[in-house]
Amino acid sequence: MDADLIRGYLEFYQDLGIKTLYRREAPAPEAVAPAAETLPQILVDIGDCRRCRLHEGRNKLVFGVGNPAAPLVFVGEGPGADEDAQGIPFVGRAGQLLTQMIENTAKREGIALTRDDVYICNVVKCRPPGNRAPEPDEMEICGQFLERQLAAIHPKAICVLGGTAARALTGHKEGVTKMRGRWFQWRDIPVMVTYHPSYLLRPYNQDAKREAWEDLKKVLHFVYD
Ligand code: URA
Repeated sequence: MDADLIRGYLEFYQDLGIKTLYRREAPAPEAVAPAAETLPQILVDIGDCRRCRLHEGRNKLVFGVGNPAAPLVFVGEGPGADEDAQGIPFVGRAGQLLTQMIENTAKREGIALTRDDVYICNVVKCRPPGNRAPEPDEMEICGQFLERQLAAIHPKAICVLGGTAARALTGHKEGVTKMRGRWFQWRDIPVMVTYHPSYLLRPYNQDAKREAWEDLKKVLHFVYD
């Protein structure tokens, strides 16, 4: 991959405030395991990705944002138009709702937490045309990067947003209404499923909104108590 492009990506993500990517605290000597891959290394490997057809329509690849040592990771489906324009996940209307949900729920529950303290990413890193759901082969190809991100961060829990991300990470085939509020597992990490914030933006979804707050409360207490 082109060295200028790599430098560009790394500077871009540094400008987003991911400076901590390079400042991870040194672990205690007894905790030292074989060197794990880091997020910048994964980003370099993604590079100017053309591994699937989604690259054809993308503006910016949307890798992920937040604390590289976060105890909690949120995983969505794939970037929308705003995310594709800015290269940052969950910055459009759904993203603003997600931020409010994280910060307001934490505050109400007495947990000191902002969006910057968690890590946020998607199953696919490039915007599917017309905001369609990612195809199975696109999720398969891009999913390896999600898995590597999760392995690098190794959070205490993962919260998946919506059915597509839930099915991708848990392997279960049920709809999100059946899966939400329940714990699943990705490798050794507990996974909570909840609704996608875009779904919650629809005006007739008051019950779903209440359920999503409950799910979030559950995951926040699990991670931060
Ligand atoms: N929807 C998603 O699933 N991810 C985003 O980043 C934005 C909207």
